[in-house]
Amino acid sequence: MNYFPAFFDLTAQKVLIVGGGEVALRKLALLTRAGAKVMVVAPQMLPEFSEQAATGKISAVLREFIPSDLDGARLVIVATSRRAVNRWIASLSEARGIPVNVVDDREASRFIVPALIDRDPVLVAISTGGASPVLARRLRERLEALIPKRFGELALWLQALRRAARWRLRDTDARRRYFEHIVDGAAARRFVAGDTHGAESLAQQLLARTSSSPRESGEVTLVGAGPGDPELLTLKALRALQDADVILYDRLVPRAVLDMARRDAGQICVGKAAGGGGSTQAEINALLIEHALQGKRVVRLKGGDPFIFGRGGEELEALRKARIRFSVIPGITAAAGCAAYAGIPLTHRDYAHSVTFVTGHEDGNGREPDWRALAKPGSTVVFYMGLARVEHIAARLVRHGAPETLPAALVAQGTLENQRVITGTLAGIAAAAARAGLESPALLVVGEVVSLHDSLAWFNTGAQLEVSQSA
Ligand code: SAH
Repeated sequence: MNYFPAFFDLTAQKVLIVGGGEVALRKLALLTRAGAKVMVVAPQMLPEFSEQAATGKISAVLREFIPSDLDGARLVIVATSRRAVNRWIASLSEARGIPVNVVDDREASRFIVPALIDRDPVLVAISTGGASPVLARRLRERLEALIPKRFGELALWLQALRRAARWRLRDTDARRRYFEHIVDGAAARRFVAGDTHGAESLAQQLLARTSSSPRESGEVTLVGAGPGDPELLTLKALRALQDADVILYDRLVPRAVLDMARRDAGQICVGKAAGGGGSTQAEINALLIEHALQGKRVVRLKGGDPFIFGRGGEELEALRKARIRFSVIPGITAAAGCAAYAGIPLTHRDYAHSVTFVTGHEDGNGREPDWRALAKPGSTVVFYMGLARVEHIAARLVRHGAPETLPAALVAQGTLENQRVITGTLAGIAAAAARAGLESPALLVVGEVVSLHDSLAWFNTGAQLEVSQSA
């Protein structure tokens, strides 16, 4: 991060603006709204400055800047048209430890002024660290459209409600939930739509109901985090992450997904990457129950879909026995995510009429899958957790009737920036994987549909794009 974001209380603080043109005027408008005591210094100024000075709102001094103008200033904004003068004033401010902004001169500035979405008292400030003003502007436009005009009033209304709620709802968790109901529900919607009275009466009803009902018990939401790309989260998964008190996650869940969670939600890694390590299933079940019994909203976050090789079912059984409420939010399973991002349509009708998801692990009792069924023509088979056993899997399929030339692909780190796809045939895929040095997590896809990858790959294919462009 090249800048530290902060909001500055400037009430009755001296701020110096050097310069008397349009730019200085725009800065002045913001600063006076923030309650600053502004002093403007310039040999010539637009008439607006003297008008405001006449009403006593600001002080306007008609002359060149002198170093003692800096006395007592908390911030300095320099906006003269002379670059050398700007830089000189900036270095004087620096020497005195006063944060300075030189308009259009990021190098000489100690702080920069962000693009603003203004729903006072709600402020959204945007900075690209000077990298791209156009990007900042686009982002601002999108957020402007997204955030209702009455958002500021809404914030003030919620602030007033907080005083009432503090009396009636002593428990901080109950209070948070009450406000979540208001903000997520009909009350806030009505308020934003302009129906202040309707919103008020809904809020009062909700308050009466919440304060008379016993403390809400905890619950567990089993959430599929998808295969890796955080944008593959469902809207419901995002909501659950935002509402969680505590999140128990597998090692497969990428940081970028966890970053979508509510800031002060507890995060507990319960391991379970390939090859074991981490907590045992019994320990995980016990943790889920323990947190739920404390009345928390627990999110159990799993890679892909929780019901596909995710042991989600076992965890729910444990919760049911402990009489804890639960719900399940499905996720994009690795097979669907990897196939999409590798350009392998799993059931393209010219090649396959079925797709089977199989675990590449032994089931612990040494039981093997029904190889003969898996080797049948016209079907696609996806092996999860099979990277260490690619050779074994390919040999078994061939022994049970699959042709050695049947296409096969390994997709590692699927849907992530470092996704890799290795293709070959059943005869050669194990050696190809070893040569490529693929790392877990990876999926093995077997079937004629894999041949489509050559023409349909689209993700992370820089090299291929260059070839087709020059062709
Ligand atoms: N519940 C998960 C699967 C858990 S089993 C789901 O629905 O996707 C873990 C296996 O999933 C890994 O060994 C690997 O085979 C596969 N997997 C998970 N994420 C993957 C990814 N991003 N790329 C490739 N394979 C992945």
